[in-house]
Amino acid sequence: MSSYPPESIVHKITNHSCAFPECTNSKLKGASMQLCKGCKRVHYCGRDCQRADWARHKPKCKLQAELLAEEARRCGRLQHDYESWKTVMAPVLFTLICNYGLQVMFQPANISTKFMYLSIRARQPPPSNPRKLFIFNSVEVVDRSRMVALLQPGLNDFLQHLEEADEDSKKRGHAGAAGLLIHVHTAEGESATIRCNPVKITREASMLEPYADWKGVVKNIIDDGINLRRRIAEKERAGELEGRVYTNIQ
Ligand SMILES: [Zn+2]
Ligand SMILES: [Zn+2]
Repeated sequence: MSSYPPESIVHKITNHSCAFPECTNSKLKGASMQLCKGCKRVHYCGRDCQRADWARHKPKCKLQAELLAEEARRCGRLQHDYESWKTVMAPVLFTLICNYGLQVMFQPANISTKFMYLSIRARQPPPSNPRKLFIFNSVEVVDRSRMVALLQPGLNDFLQHLEEADEDSKKRGHAGAAGLLIHVHTAEGESATIRCNPVKITREASMLEPYADWKGVVKNIIDDGINLRRRIAEKERAGELEGRVYTNIQ
């Protein structure tokens, strides 16, 4: 079970220093730093420093490289399961999370000043029903300024992607695109992968009034694998729904 913030994924992102102990070069000092290709953990200011440090760094590097390979194998399965889950759950669930959590209807500015952080973990043993592949860990509203620290390497373009989606949504007269980060854990609860989604909110709906227990609702939906589309369609037919949610998930 993990809570926010998951310290294991908050990267030391700003000042890479050369890993060779006798060298004081760093990114802040203007050196162009390169990541060690083996462990993808430490940086060097150049080949000379990497060579000079190799005898010292080698054992750690090999161990970390093995851990990375193992994680890549595990993540392959995890990402596949996440995509299956997302296909059936995301269209309404992500919208609901962003609307309730960010209170789009009452605080429209929240779309661009905050983002949603959702943490889920794989159910063990993996069920055949894709809706039940994951269990709820937590969901939080977080200041947008913290997003960069949560983004894994390779996902840095997400912020730009999000801004473009936001602009595009507003150009169409819609409410904007909210940011949703999903931390996907293995069943053992280890940090595994972070997925990012801009959630384009095309219209606020009257059903989305501030709701104190919205986190409990999200938890139930995920843990029970509820088919929200069907549930909403049923309510609409029965005339029990006051408003509608229109969104476009990317
Ligand atoms: Zn150096
Ligand atoms: Zn290394």
